[in-house]
This record gives sequence, structure tokens and C-alpha cells, in this order.
Amino acid sequence: MYLGLPESVRACLFDLDGVITKTAVVHKAAWKETFDDFLRGRDGEGFRPFGDDDYDRYVDGRPRADGVRAFLDSRGIRLPEGGEDDPPDRLSVHGLGNRKNELLLEKIRKEGVEAYPASVRYVRAVRDAGLRTAVVSSSRNCRDVLASVGIEELFDVRIDGVVAAERSLPGKPAPDTFLAAARDLGVDAAASAVFEDALAGMDAGRSGHFGYVVGVDRVGQARELREHGADTVVTDLEELLLPDAADLEGPP
Ligand SMILES: [Mg+2]
Repeated sequence: MYLGLPESVRACLFDLDGVITKTAVVHKAAWKETFDDFLRGRDGEGFRPFGDDDYDRYVDGRPRADGVRAFLDSRGIRLPEGGEDDPPDRLSVHGLGNRKNELLLEKIRKEGVEAYPASVRYVRAVRDAGLRTAVVSSSRNCRDVLASVGIEELFDVRIDGVVAAERSLPGKPAPDTFLAAARDLGVDAAASAVFEDALAGMDAGRSGHFGYVVGVDRVGQARELREHGADTVVTDLEELLLPDAADLEGPP
């Protein structure tokens, strides 16, 4: 079956939020509510709100605390680090991160989680073709999200926020979580493809020297995904299953 990948690829490493499940929008909404509340409390009603650009540049794809630090840094704001158990109303890096997680889980409970049907079809096609699969996510909720849509069995390996903490792996944009997934699958990075919707994920794909990097563009940032190292950009994984005119020149 045609998979839209170079023949050398033996393993596929998939990001979760925004690639497999429709949860990137929920993450973005939870971050916006968290940061806007914080900025309003700090600067009053004239505060500069958290925007789409802030999400793409500083937060999307990164581990929670790294995202808080990167965004605050971009505004020249310093908060104490705090501890991982900080309550969600504490003004610290971890406090804000925990507030975001609380809002995220609330939204997921209320709205539920959905997988992209085309992504599920694609992962099944890849497995039917004998390739190995991993899910690589910064999220500590990865396992629950997979379970809630009943697709845990589609991935041979899971490297998520929980596993990364256990193994002391730095999160995206560092390539370490993707490299760990390839290693656990017994496949070289050069024979692995990365599927990501975040700019931080593209950077990880590039610096890890993976064989192929697929940018998944859900929000109209194809150009930025390419600038950050995507070998190809699709709006839906279904496109990879359909050879188009460009491929008549030969496989990518
Ligand atoms: Mg993502």
C-alpha cells in the first residue's frame, strides 16, 4: 500500500495532540484562559492577551513547565519556579502549569476527546504494511487520552510526559523523546519518520536527523512548518495515502 514515505522508513513516530487526536485546540484554549487570567490580574484590563502566535512559538508541543517559562520569558516576566505540587492558584511556573492542566482536564471531561479518523486509518495502514509505530507526546495525559478513544493498541511504544520524567529526557524541541521511541522500537532515527503539528516538534525532527519529517498543518502554518524542517506538509494524514501528480516523478 502506498504510504507517502521513503522506502527506507521502518518506523513511524506520531505526536498525539493535533496529529492523532483533536486535542490541540483544547490545549490552546486552556493555555489562553490560564495566561489571560494571569496577565489580567497583573496588568489590569488593558493587558496584552495570549495570542495564536504565542501558542505556536512558545507553548505548542513543549512540556508544560517549559511552555510557561518560554511564554513568560517572551514578555519579560519572571515568576518563581515553585514545585510540581503547587496549587493551581499559586503564582509560580508550576502553579500556572497546574492551572492549565486543571482547565484542560475540565474541558476534556466536558467535551470528550475525538481522534482524527484519517489519522487512525493511516496508523492502521502503516502497521498493516509491517512498519512499527510509537506515540511521542509531551503530555502527561497521553495514556488516558489514548484510552478514552480506544486506540492504545495502535502503538508499539509510548514515550509521553510521564515516561520522559522517569527517564529524565528533555522534551521537545529537544529530539530526545523521539530518539528514545526509535531506540525502543529498535529502528535507527534515519529509518524513522516523525509526524508533528508543532514547530517545536519540527525542530526535534530536524535536530534528531530523522529520515523523514511530516508536518501536519491543522491551523494554516504550512510555511512555518517547512521553515522548521518539514520534508512535506499535509493538512490530513489521508493525503499521504493518495499518490498525486507530484509523485509521478518517483517516491519522495
Ligand atoms: Mg501536537
